[in-house]
Amino acid sequence: MRDWSLRQPVFIIPVSRNNFTNVDPLQKFARYGVTLAYAPDDGGLTVQIKFLGTGAAEGIPAINCDCHHCSRAREEGGRLVRERSALLFELPGYSMLVEAPPDIRDLINKHQVHNLQGILVTQDTYSHIGGIKEFEWWPRPLDFLAEPTQFEVIREEHWTDRLDDVMFHIPYYPGVALSFGEFSLVPFAARRESVFGLSVNVNGKQIIYASSTTSRLTNYARCLMAGADVLIVNTPTFEPPKEDHITVLEAIELKKQAGVGQLILTYINHHNRPHDELEDYAREDPGITVAYDGMILEV
Ligand SMILES: [Zn+2]
Repeated sequence: MRDWSLRQPVFIIPVSRNNFTNVDPLQKFARYGVTLAYAPDDGGLTVQIKFLGTGAAEGIPAINCDCHHCSRAREEGGRLVRERSALLFELPGYSMLVEAPPDIRDLINKHQVHNLQGILVTQDTYSHIGGIKEFEWWPRPLDFLAEPTQFEVIREEHWTDRLDDVMFHIPYYPGVALSFGEFSLVPFAARRESVFGLSVNVNGKQIIYASSTTSRLTNYARCLMAGADVLIVNTPTFEPPKEDHITVLEAIELKKQAGVGQLILTYINHHNRPHDELEDYAREDPGITVAYDGMILEV
């Protein structure tokens, strides 16, 4: 017997699994003789961002602090607890850790991060770079992306010969796109000091990680973030005044001004509202998400 099914025309349509929510695409198209070609299992066209830690410099609970927020975090745990901030960007062919806080070894073990190609840091302070020496033991080569003057500080204060064996420094410059083929990064100045935000451009989507920006953004940064799909902002405290960081209330205002699709609040400190109270506040706008440790965002 001849197998006539082989004579059916075959159409190959590149799609993302994420185009379909409740329908099995195979069932939907099989009756028309259409074969769906899936993007590979590395996430396809979706970029994944995992929030390994979402706390500010002191983490929650802060060391020896008996404030209401820290006390609740100690007693109730869950999303009230925040390790210092680190983000894992799963980009096409490239997993990039953003920030290397002092607890990075625990975070990497806890969230089972096995695959990394590069580490990018946005500032050279202890809470963002204090864990870099842990990578002396990383078993494969890594890129290390840092702005050159920042790298000099890191080299003086944190670098070792062992890290030189593992890491290859790639300098980045504000306003200059760094192309990785299937995606690109555009760093921008987030403060007058050496603190940088990032515009990640991938698959027609734009994700801004504004890092520890102040509320006084440059007009250049505002142009970059206008209409972005996602804006991730470090907001340690809830309301002004706070000179060195934008606050929750100002970030919500920025979301409106810049016309971004989704605002993610992270890098929360113990003076801010506890997670559940912050979520209640943010509920008025479905485009606002309060990050928590272990949260995965798909864009
Ligand atoms: Zn506290």
